[in-house]
Amino acid sequence: MNVPAIPLAGVIGFPIGQSASPRMHKYWLARYGLVGDYVPLEVSESQLRNVIQTMPQMGFVGANVTIPHKTAVMQIADHLSDRAILVGAANTLIFRPDGKIHADNTDGYGFMSNLRQGAPHWNAKSGPAVVLGAGGAARAIIVALADAGVPQILLANRTRPKAEALRSEFGTRIKVVDWVQANTALEDANLLVNTTSLGMIGQPELRLSLDYLSPSTVVTDIVYKPLRTPLLEHAAARGCVTVDGLGMLLHQGVPGFERWFGQRPEVDDALRQAVLE
Ligand code: NAP
Repeated sequence: MNVPAIPLAGVIGFPIGQSASPRMHKYWLARYGLVGDYVPLEVSESQLRNVIQTMPQMGFVGANVTIPHKTAVMQIADHLSDRAILVGAANTLIFRPDGKIHADNTDGYGFMSNLRQGAPHWNAKSGPAVVLGAGGAARAIIVALADAGVPQILLANRTRPKAEALRSEFGTRIKVVDWVQANTALEDANLLVNTTSLGMIGQPELRLSLDYLSPSTVVTDIVYKPLRTPLLEHAAARGCVTVDGLGMLLHQGVPGFERWFGQRPEVDDALRQAVLE
């Protein structure tokens, strides 16, 4: 067996300059005194297969995959986890000693771990979740919420047919709500999740009346630039427990790091500070 002297991992995307993943994994490597490195890799669509298939020979033990390659990578991997198949996308690759490439999706795990850390009292089975958005991130989150036992998912998306398509795919636990009436769905919500890009720096604001939102509803936004989005600020002002999106990014990196470098890393305030610097 060919064991690399310095195990390498990285994040593959296009563009990749803004990715926080290198800072996070380098922090963990230093914190646990591990030999290894983690690098950003800007890879175009036409280079993707070639790069991924060459990486194991260059000492890479695995990689994260981000926008726009999360779906395309499914065609390149030799093995797909059940979660990756269900979500239809992968964000974590493991280059196995037998030469095979295994692909997994840890976005849903990251989302749930962040939610449980930020709102430990939240009980998945206690009531419906309102999910805004039906893009790639929403798919992983819907699968994770259903898996956790959320009884009903009220799904609102600007482009309604995309929400309808998710209902067809993931089942009747999803009820599609009109985008402009999403505020009325908040009344009985146990959880509100924004999975759209609205509220992100450079994007329009999320315009959603919170008049029906109860203080007992946990509110989370997967946008983390800014860390405190207007949605989280407004919900906190109503007395809701709020959970920011940075933790989702940090927790989704845990399973990959553990597989590549043999140490289960912790997500704590020191890591958050290191990534935010
Ligand atoms: P995506 O697949 O492109 O989906 C974008 C979603 O935002 C769609 O539902 C889209 O609605 C909606 N949207 C965009 N512009 C809108 C507007 N002007 N009005 C109403 N809805 C709008 O993107 P994604 O991969 O799911 O990512 C979504 C956001 O989550 C991004 O900001 C991303 O950075 C963030 N994210 C964070 C994490 C984390 O770890 N915290 C992980 C993944 C993603 P339509 O279908 O109508 O276009």
